[in-house]
Amino acid sequence: MRYRYKLLPVEWREAFHDYQRLLARRFAVVSALMGLIIVPFFQLVELWPQLGVQDHWWNHLGWRILPLVAAIGILVLRWRVPDGFWPRAMLILYALSGMVMMAGMVADHLLEPDGPYAYLSKGLVVVIALVAVLATAGARDLILVYGVPLVAMAVVVMRASLAPVEVFLLLFHPLIMMAIGLVVSEVLYRVRLEAFMARQELEQSASTDILTGLVNRRAFDARLEAEHARCLRQDASYALIMADLDHFKHVNDTHGHDVGDEVLTELARRLQGALRTEDELGRWGGEEFMVLLPDAGQHEAEPVAEKLRRAVADMPFHTSAGPLSITTSLGIAVFNGEEMPSKVARHADLALYAAKENGRNRCESA
Ligand code: GH3
Ligand code: MG
Ligand code: MG
Repeated sequence: MRYRYKLLPVEWREAFHDYQRLLARRFAVVSALMGLIIVPFFQLVELWPQLGVQDHWWNHLGWRILPLVAAIGILVLRWRVPDGFWPRAMLILYALSGMVMMAGMVADHLLEPDGPYAYLSKGLVVVIALVAVLATAGARDLILVYGVPLVAMAVVVMRASLAPVEVFLLLFHPLIMMAIGLVVSEVLYRVRLEAFMARQELEQSASTDILTGLVNRRAFDARLEAEHARCLRQDASYALIMADLDHFKHVNDTHGHDVGDEVLTELARRLQGALRTEDELGRWGGEEFMVLLPDAGQHEAEPVAEKLRRAVADMPFHTSAGPLSITTSLGIAVFNGEEMPSKVARHADLALYAAKENGRNRCESA
């Protein structure tokens, strides 16, 4: 069903699947709780008028046990299998058990000559409507779930000798509800997809630097804090490299701010090109860039910083003002048990200052 995703950029699909799983899990738990209240309630309502008669009040109990067992199963699995379990499968199984329950009750009453099957057919309508709202993946979830009552009703209608008008009355509302249910579930799915995309776009624009397309300071800090916490926990290490353009004021003053912007964009491209995908590069300030090397010590960080320096210095930058020779100074700091990530960043800043002092176009370590 590739067509469903044509709206969704490839890099967001994983996140959307996670979101769908989260929704399915919540829906499954809420609907299981509701089922545990509603299904026994209807059993009691049926039991009540028949108490005096001592008739077959346990009629339907067998059918009602199906969704009750499914509901209890969901609630147990909810706590026992926290991750990796497929919540949509739970939801579909639960919906199927509700459908089998209703289809079974309709069948029971149809096979009894004077069964009051009309209200059962209404029950089927209610279950069909509820399931439509719960279908997290839209109409495709429902093809399977709706198949059960369709097949059951077809078999029973063929076996019971009903007048055509009775067949019509029995099937009319459930079939109309199924058609509505398919549309409703598909619309809800699309609304969820669009809301998800709007949220992603907002999040992305709030964490991206417009000029260079890199992550901005805010997003970089969040990533840095996560890595810092991980290293504190696991006794691991990371490195920061802070890079600052040399005499960048001169570029702006001589060629204008727009050419300065071109240099910044090209610089971001070159730095990114020299890094591995797991390294994080962010725009830290105006013409300062920060690199986070996860799982790295001094030994790993030094050659990376040197590679970055050369990626900038070795080839002139092609700008609208012609080729320009650009260099950067870089400061390296390695995490050494500091309490706060800002301390490590401060060390990188001090190392950068030393690189400037020692003649620029060079790397220094804290
Ligand atoms: P140094 O080698 O000591 O770093 O010298 P410098 O001239 O680069 O000095 P400094 O780092 O203090 O200068 C920062 C300059 O960067 C000043 C500012 O105009 C320029 N700048 C900051 N952000 C931007 C930007 O977004 N676009 C442009 N074109 N220039 C920027
Ligand atoms: Mg600066
Ligand atoms: Mg500078």
